[in-house]
Amino acid sequence: MNVNHVSSKPRIVIIGGGFAGINLGRSLSGHNVEVIMLDKHNYHTFQPLLYQVAIGAIEADAVGYPIRRIFAGQENFTFHLAEVQKISPESNTVNTNVGDFTYDYLVIATGSNTNYFGNKEMEHFTMPMKNIPEALNWRSLMVQNLEKALLTSDPIERAALLTFVVVGGGPTGVEMSGALAEMRLHMLTKDYPTFKPDDMKVYLVEGKPELIAAMSERASIKAKQFLIDMGVVIYTGVHVQSYNGEDLKIDNGVELKARSVFWAAGVKGEVPDGLPQEVVVRGARIQTDEINRVKGFNNIFAIGDVSAIVNTDTPNGHPGVAPVAIQQGSHLGKNLIRIIKGEAPVPFEYRDKGTLATVGRNKAVADLGKLRFQGFFAWLLWLFVHVMTLAGFSNKLIVFFSWIINYFTRNTDNRMILHNFDTETMKTDPIAK
Ligand SMILES: Cc1cc2nc3c(=O)[nH]c(=O)nc-3n(C[C@H](O)[C@H](O)[C@H](O)COP(=O)(O)OP(=O)(O)OC[C@H]3O[C@@H](n4cnc5c(N)ncnc54)[C@H](O)[C@@H]3O)c2cc1C
Repeated sequence: MNVNHVSSKPRIVIIGGGFAGINLGRSLSGHNVEVIMLDKHNYHTFQPLLYQVAIGAIEADAVGYPIRRIFAGQENFTFHLAEVQKISPESNTVNTNVGDFTYDYLVIATGSNTNYFGNKEMEHFTMPMKNIPEALNWRSLMVQNLEKALLTSDPIERAALLTFVVVGGGPTGVEMSGALAEMRLHMLTKDYPTFKPDDMKVYLVEGKPELIAAMSERASIKAKQFLIDMGVVIYTGVHVQSYNGEDLKIDNGVELKARSVFWAAGVKGEVPDGLPQEVVVRGARIQTDEINRVKGFNNIFAIGDVSAIVNTDTPNGHPGVAPVAIQQGSHLGKNLIRIIKGEAPVPFEYRDKGTLATVGRNKAVADLGKLRFQGFFAWLLWLFVHVMTLAGFSNKLIVFFSWIINYFTRNTDNRMILHNFDTETMKTDPIAK
């Protein structure tokens, strides 16, 4: 298939229907342009709540939303389910698995992927979580290991099956280890009455000296204290040396036997092929100028996690968080219209409204400018912000009511193994009928 121009309107092709792409697409509504969005998934993923899917707190569909539904009624918008294989700037074409798309303006909003820093062993044996299938893989593995632990008569094997290690103490690692600690405290003995909470172990391993280093010192210390109070064993300032699916070695000499290791230690930009290597900077992000235009190109832009505005204020680009992607998407939409009209574009300025991270029930940390608080009110704010940012009214309701039920029952309802996770191949198998 070849999708060449049929209308005389300028054509803007957006690769990626994440936070950046969606907000860009919306901001182009009603303008005299043709918008084509390409994504390898037909849904938008709300990544901040993936860990809740992974631990069974909410259902998987609640963190996804069909891209076609988001843009229903936007007349200048078309969506195609397509995996981009390459960009060909010399012919203004995007090459995908379903055909080629020509563009006048191209916006790369492909987000980021898990970074194993070249360690193939970690890549094979640890569990990543950047999308819904990966969150469901973790859920399957976790529940399968609990089931196996119940059956084995070997105490060493049982302990390994009940040992959960989270690598990476950023917001995702902290949220995941907190959620596992809650499972240990509240769910384990209800679903598996022969186990005691102490049978399950949760470890958090972080390379930096402190957890959630991007937040204030106070938030970092409080998050660590919350986790310790919940029984999580934390190692900071150390690195995992090796993991072969059974034995995990840390460079402080600690060796653990664990069957479930979750990798939240890094991300890298998901850069499509076809751009020159010199535009790809630290963290595999595409370097852009202040209007998100890719260095050396007139009509190619990059926004969100995959991009980095590199200047003296932001030498490594803006943080890879949803508000940056949302604001860059909306801002670029306005700039593209200005450029098309022959007007001067306006540089992007990030309005940082603050950072929130939750550790568990009634426990979160909040840095909102100079206002820093922790505990119940931070947790309520975290709940509110996440429900309000979720795409789709039905998803907001489903998540809100799931949390109310979870809060009062001190349990979660979504621990079904829908697909077996095969620990030999580290892939899912269809479950036996
Ligand atoms: C587990 C987790 C927890 C997080 N928690 C928080 C949080 O609490 N707060 C916060 O602010 N941020 C959080 N983030 C980060 C936040 O989700 C990202 O910053 C944000 O999603 C970036 O938006 P984006 O549009 O750049 O990319 P994404 O949202 O990743 O979207 C990229 C899109 O591009 C598509 N795509 C990629 N490659 C191709 C291709 N070759 N062809 C076609 N389509 C392609 C993908 O399918 C996807 O839909 C979290 C991220 C993760 C993974």
